Amino acid sequence: MWNSDRFSSYRGQQRADGEWHPGGVAGQRLKDLTRRGKRRRWRERRLEAEAIRQAYERLKRVDAKYGALAERMSTCGNIHWFDVARNDVGVEISRLSKTISCNCRNCPQCQARKAYSLGGQLVEAVQEMIKRVPGCRAIFLTLTAINALQGALEAELDRQSEAFTRMTRWVRFGRSVLGGMRRFEITWNAIARSWHVHIHAWLFVPHDYGRKGSGLFIQQVEWRQLWQKALGVDYLPNVWVTSVRGVGDHGPNLGKAGRKAVAEMAKYATKPGDMIDFDANSGEYVCDETLLCELHDALEGRRMFAFFGQLKDIRADLNEDGDEAVERPKFPPGFVHVCTEVYAWYWAPVRSQSDYFCIDRQYVVRDPPF
Ligand SMILES: [Zn+2]
Repeated sequence: MWNSDRFSSYRGQQRADGEWHPGGVAGQRLKDLTRRGKRRRWRERRLEAEAIRQAYERLKRVDAKYGALAERMSTCGNIHWFDVARNDVGVEISRLSKTISCNCRNCPQCQARKAYSLGGQLVEAVQEMIKRVPGCRAIFLTLTAINALQGALEAELDRQSEAFTRMTRWVRFGRSVLGGMRRFEITWNAIARSWHVHIHAWLFVPHDYGRKGSGLFIQQVEWRQLWQKALGVDYLPNVWVTSVRGVGDHGPNLGKAGRKAVAEMAKYATKPGDMIDFDANSGEYVCDETLLCELHDALEGRRMFAFFGQLKDIRADLNEDGDEAVERPKFPPGFVHVCTEVYAWYWAPVRSQSDYFCIDRQYVVRDPPF
């Protein structure tokens, strides 16, 4: 088992190919690929998290609560455990099975992890919805407003959150929409120096929603008017509406397109990248602490993701049934769990060259097969 003392005296080295390497027992660099062969951004997220941690550290003089967060974030993502499985033709796949996490809202690593687990829960809830209301469809609604100036983020989130709830209570909305979910998305526009806050929502509608004469269909221009009324503004806000593909086409189970749409919905409300710059001179990621401070306070205690209507009831039912046990990664059929690889984060002298290196391999079987 890994023991922190074993690595405390270690010193990095420059290899013949010029690449920095931690040396010692640390072996290969982490190379975690998705099913489509795309590299997962563990390294970049660890570097972004460090930039955010440093910004919290600088904010310590404003309020001690930020210092406590910096402390919590300092160990987040320092060690990852990956379960490696192999099939009989030698194909290897690995899944993250355990990690050290801080659970801070603005930690890029924890955000990615939470989005992944929320995605799983959403798939379950959506499939249950299709089962309970056969033939129902989902539409995807994006509601926007003009940008909020720096310093006005909290007020803007309050305004849109209240406006959305108001709109869902109207008869016109309630007659056409059975239920759904909404999430906020906040982006920082560095050129205009303003926050762009918008809402993404999935609305489940009955099977005859699109039928002529049913009186249920809401046209895009009407959505814009509804949202304008809900916001109480004098301009016509931009609203986009499309149908969600892959929902209800193949019975209760979500198709590939439907799963992809769910993953998109589970994304986190903020992109830390908006506030982080890469400084080519120092090779470091730097986070603007004034923005982080505003974002942190605006998000504190706020529900960025919410369910409403029938989907809210389904979600509550599923939560009652489901147990809280931590799920072990499941491998596809034919794959056998052979070992668990432990990766530790190593800071390189030039910070941007830092990476995860394998420090231990724990075999499931007594005799290692390789
Ligand atoms: Zn974290």
